[in-house]
Amino acid sequence: MTQKYDVVIIGVGPAGMTAATYASRANLSVMMIDKGIYGGQMNDTAEVENYPAFDSILGPDLAEKMYASSTRFGAEYTFGEVQNVIDHGKTKTIVTDDEQYEAKVVIVASGATHRHIGVPGEDKYSGRGVSYCAVCDGAFFKNEQIVVIGGGDSAVEEASYLANLAKDVTIVHRRDQLRASRIAQKRAFDTDNIDFSWNKRTEEIIGDDEKVTGVKVLDKISNQESVIKTNGVFIYVGIDPNTQGLENLGILDEKGWVLTDDNMQTKVPGIYAVGDVRKDSIRQIAAAVGDGAVAGKILFDYIQSLSDTEIEA
Ligand code: NAP
Repeated sequence: MTQKYDVVIIGVGPAGMTAATYASRANLSVMMIDKGIYGGQMNDTAEVENYPAFDSILGPDLAEKMYASSTRFGAEYTFGEVQNVIDHGKTKTIVTDDEQYEAKVVIVASGATHRHIGVPGEDKYSGRGVSYCAVCDGAFFKNEQIVVIGGGDSAVEEASYLANLAKDVTIVHRRDQLRASRIAQKRAFDTDNIDFSWNKRTEEIIGDDEKVTGVKVLDKISNQESVIKTNGVFIYVGIDPNTQGLENLGILDEKGWVLTDDNMQTKVPGIYAVGDVRKDSIRQIAAAVGDGAVAGKILFDYIQSLSDTEIEA
């Protein structure tokens, strides 16, 4: 049976939860759907230090607080993996793996997922020393040597978090300059037990029958291969959009990010996108919250315009 809502939100991270707060507070019926636990990438984030009103808060704690806000005015939340969204004009059908929904408005808030490097050993040792989540798995490597691969904000910030647990952290980067923000860089440079392995291409994650034992790297300047010994490798080499099932709508760019205008509207009336999944997002929690507020507010006018056309007809 098809369940009917005013608004269906795909993805329950900071952007989706904020949109839900605004829409449900405007007395609209709202269903939030996520294939995992609410919170999105906040669940994989150790300390958040750039979200207003908190000096520092753990990502999962911030997720918990946002979830409480988002459900306070009656928005619902369910598990489901979206397979397809069909635009019928005034209504949309959202098909998940086991349910079907009809909504006047769809908000795509499905975020992004950590990218894999794609080297031998990466998938084989995933969960056995290879991780994409320092806050989830860092404690397994207490007082050990940890390798972090990448040079962006995620790699450098999570390396700083891991340095509190580990004996030493080596950041392996493919260039000799970091992409991360200056403040994140400075903190890492100032941390005694973080060192850097520059200009290294990761060739392979190596291990024994049970677990990771090292990372094989190629020095791009000298062309020499070497192995950095470690049992824990944290990979932060960028993110890809979670837009599977949305391909038929014509709202994605060639890499799968959603295109919107400044009001979070896609080119399909009644379909909005917010947060990291947007091509133009600056990929910050605060920005995702801002996107969610814009869409959650503006969709009210859109829904109103639907009933106005019904009255005129
Ligand atoms: P990112 O900014 O795209 O950085 C990815 C890093 O991985 C780059 O340094 C890149 O190297 C490297 N890389 C990419 N492919 C690789 C490969 N195959 N092998 C080895 N290295 C590879 O990704 P991110 O750090 O996940 O951040 C994503 C977005 O979220 C960014 O906009 C970031 O600013 C934002 N973010 C913000 C915060 C914060 O404000 N607190 C925290 C986390 C993330 P190159 O530099 O050579 O390209």
